[in-house]
Amino acid sequence: MSNSTLDHDVRSAARVIAPLTLADRCDAPAVVGGSNGRTDRGSCGAQAFIRAVLPSGSDLIFCAHHGRDHEAALAAVGAEIRDETDKIDA
Ligand SMILES: [Zn+2]
Repeated sequence: MSNSTLDHDVRSAARVIAPLTLADRCDAPAVVGGSNGRTDRGSCGAQAFIRAVLPSGSDLIFCAHHGRDHEAALAAVGAEIRDETDKIDA
């Protein structure tokens, strides 16, 4: 009896996702309110605790707040997500 046609590891594409460092900053665009009442687009820049690796191999990093915002959308496109938000209180 042979099971060779069934020997298919569906998890073989799993990647090792690099850990985040203190130097990693949130990539999410943020609306920054100016003191004159105008708003400008800038990047969030908070310390990143969540890294999402897209199927294309590129990655995005987010602070806890923006990571939560984008987590569902990222998962929907097949991104692998490393969540280090448990380090915040460490
Ligand atoms: Zn952010």
